[in-house]
Amino acid sequence: MKKRSAKKLPSSPTSLRCRSLSVAIGKEPIVRCVSLVVRRGETHVLMGPNGSGKSTLAGALMGLPQYRITSGSILLGNKSLTKLPAEKRASEGLFLAFQNPPVLPGVSVLSLLNHAQSVGGNRLPKSDLKSYAATLKTAASRLGIEQSFLTRSLNEGFSGGEKKKSEILQLLMLKPSFAFLDEIDSGLDIDALKVCLHALREHQIEYNAGFVFVTHNPSLLRYVDPSYVHIMIRGRIVRTGSKDLMDLVADKGFAPFLKP
Ligand code: ADP
Ligand code: MG
Repeated sequence: MKKRSAKKLPSSPTSLRCRSLSVAIGKEPIVRCVSLVVRRGETHVLMGPNGSGKSTLAGALMGLPQYRITSGSILLGNKSLTKLPAEKRASEGLFLAFQNPPVLPGVSVLSLLNHAQSVGGNRLPKSDLKSYAATLKTAASRLGIEQSFLTRSLNEGFSGGEKKKSEILQLLMLKPSFAFLDEIDSGLDIDALKVCLHALREHQIEYNAGFVFVTHNPSLLRYVDPSYVHIMIRGRIVRTGSKDLMDLVADKGFAPFLKP
């Protein structure tokens, strides 16, 4: 791979952290006292059995309204995000690729990206629109996305793989500092997964982004080289370690992490 220096803005925060974060859905406590630090350029993998609270943690960090933070804090550099709505967190450089991307009838990928660009205070001057469209075309073809797809209603009738590709396309265009990729490996066939992960890795190197892959599937290890692996059981991170933890999960499942 060609080596490139990271495109880092001088003021861009170097870490995203949550401290003793607890999250409820309605009255039900789901995430319990989780602390996590993700630095720019790092790759984390958050693993755990179904229903352990991985998506809840990712959604709460992104600020999705259905997740209620009951205690703890979220910091981007020195700035607190804890009380900011999702769109503010997005313009501060956070991104979530949804496990189940929502259907938005009447809103295309193209119009969503144009809107996100202007909400972020980066409305493009007319002179730049052409080059933006060209960049979008290039990113789409890099992921094997047909041009006609860009003007279809977002996720309406999309296959599982198309939904995931569309999430990744949005990431490539919005260039977040920190991104959560929730079950990005589900729905994509093996060839598409390789293409997408390759594009993500190149992008991560170029922009020095911090990525958190959320998955229950240890086979992702074949394609992702994590700096840290976290195991989440019943809403708590019970172990943090190197990629050896993924090997252990591949071998023995989550049983070694479950308390009797
Ligand atoms: P994971 O991503 O690890 O599979 P989730 O964060 O999706 O787990 O879910 C954690 C728990 O929260 C599960 O028991 C799930 O049933 C519950 N949960 C998720 N969404 C809701 C909801 N909208 N209302 C009530 N419970 C929910
Ligand atoms: Mg999930």
